[in-house]
Amino acid sequence: MNESKDFLRTIVEEDIKAHKYNEVVTRFPPEPNGFPHIGHAKSIAINFGIARDYNGHCNLRMDDTNPTTEDTRYVEALKDAVEWLGFKWEGNVRYTSDYFPELYEYAKQLIKMGKAYVDSLSEEEIREYRGTVTEPGRRSVYAERSVEENLDLLERMKNGEFKDGEHVLRAKIDMSAANMKMRDPLLYRIRHAHHYRTGDAWNIYPMYDFGHCLSDYIEGVSHSICTLEFENNRDIYDWVLDTLGLTSPRPYQHEFARLGINYTVMSKRKLLELVNENYVSGWDDPRMPTIAGLRRRGYTPESILNFCHQIGIAKANSMVDVAQLEFCIRDDLNTKVPRVMCVLDPLKVTIENYEGSEELDASYYPEDVPKEGSRKLPFSREIFIERDDFSENPPAGFYRLTPEQSVRLKHAYIISCKEVIKDAEGNITEIIATYHPDSKSGSDTSGIKVKSAIQWVDAHRAKTAEVRLYDRLYTCEAPEGLEDLNPDSLKVIKNALVEPALITEKPDVRFQFERQGYFYADPVDYTDEAPVFNKIVGLKDSWNK
Ligand code: ATP
Ligand code: MG
Ligand code: MG
Repeated sequence: MNESKDFLRTIVEEDIKAHKYNEVVTRFPPEPNGFPHIGHAKSIAINFGIARDYNGHCNLRMDDTNPTTEDTRYVEALKDAVEWLGFKWEGNVRYTSDYFPELYEYAKQLIKMGKAYVDSLSEEEIREYRGTVTEPGRRSVYAERSVEENLDLLERMKNGEFKDGEHVLRAKIDMSAANMKMRDPLLYRIRHAHHYRTGDAWNIYPMYDFGHCLSDYIEGVSHSICTLEFENNRDIYDWVLDTLGLTSPRPYQHEFARLGINYTVMSKRKLLELVNENYVSGWDDPRMPTIAGLRRRGYTPESILNFCHQIGIAKANSMVDVAQLEFCIRDDLNTKVPRVMCVLDPLKVTIENYEGSEELDASYYPEDVPKEGSRKLPFSREIFIERDDFSENPPAGFYRLTPEQSVRLKHAYIISCKEVIKDAEGNITEIIATYHPDSKSGSDTSGIKVKSAIQWVDAHRAKTAEVRLYDRLYTCEAPEGLEDLNPDSLKVIKNALVEPALITEKPDVRFQFERQGYFYADPVDYTDEAPVFNKIVGLKDSWNK
């Protein structure tokens, strides 16, 4: 931690040194309007990570002030994501909606101080009156309402006497402030909508700028960490707390750069569209950048946290290459998971000179992985190899089986092609081969040189599996919309063949399929009778840009 302290931890350490707070308290404050994505993982890692590093605590707060988009389902998804990443929030989950009564009292206090007023301009007029960067705004005539009238109107807004948009509550700050956000920002708006927690109790809902700082204060937050786009909102944050004289402890806002990753989108609105319009199978579709999607794809929490650590915390927005995320999962699984064999597009090979059957002893791990374990691989005269591991007219540099070139069957023998059998259309249907009895892996005395070892499965003992091959969701680095979706982001192989130990022994739920990549037994659809494996990532970064 010390070797590369980020700017947020530097701030926290300075505050600790200055005895500014009794305890470091952070919060992760999502709006429950969608499933959290990898960007939220960054925020979770920062907020919970800082609390952990400085013996403080982190709250999980649902920032639920928008009744039309929020749902308990998303609350559950957010809790799941935080827990899965390995963090614990302090006490119960908090909800901004639990603070509605308190927030309302603070609003009345501002009115009484002459610092807030009910405005009755239309939305359009409010925008027009605000002015521009070069032109100061002007204040609404309604800003001169008396305290009594303002209190009365706010109460009636709350009770539902007015239609949406008829009035708003605004802070009375400065209509010519250089920071446009400070030109009498909105504090409350009318919404006649059912809230998933407070039902129909409220007809007014606090705006982010009012609710957020006060929720932080109510919870005793010391460091309120948010993304860069809120930089200009910081003045309002400070104004509300200072005007109300809320000081012990007084939270401060600090901004960091949002995470963006290429070939995907990170806005819940766009992700919701993919779900609602069935472009993906759900929020947990393995192609989604959601934590639920990455999890179902087979990503580990360790790989995601390591990714968040690697990208660091910066003050300037940037785009991270998805290859870096892929590197992190590959790196994590490389030292952990068993190597097994799967054939995606089977081509039958009959080994003419082999009689009977045997069980070959095969280690699950290569020598450079310090893990133990092996399985028995059934072998007989009929096996399947990958169709493209054979070539009748091999291009230069083709190292696998050809009519002239022998190949090793991984963990087994060297075979040579004797005859190629084709159907009426000329498609290859079978290879007749011979094996070399003295070439067995581990005790090879044949002296035959081969250029590669290929995966294979025994024709009689292999199990059929569905394999889902995932590719990037979008075809371009900075997708704009649906037109950029990758039409080939999912390819389903219904009749792949896997060696039996995967299913009978279950040495793990994640595997390296030799020469294919890393795969994960789909946690939803997998059964022993109908196994389903998701491709997590290929063995190397071979994606063509
Ligand atoms: P979206 O555009 O996906 O709706 P949001 O900022 O509205 O994002 P919230 O639920 O309000 O989503 O975010 C909760 C917390 O996560 C906030 O503190 C927010 O700053 C942070 N966060 C959201 N997206 C990212 C991201 N891409 N990178 C880093 N932090 C993020
Ligand atoms: Mg938000
Ligand atoms: Mg949002």
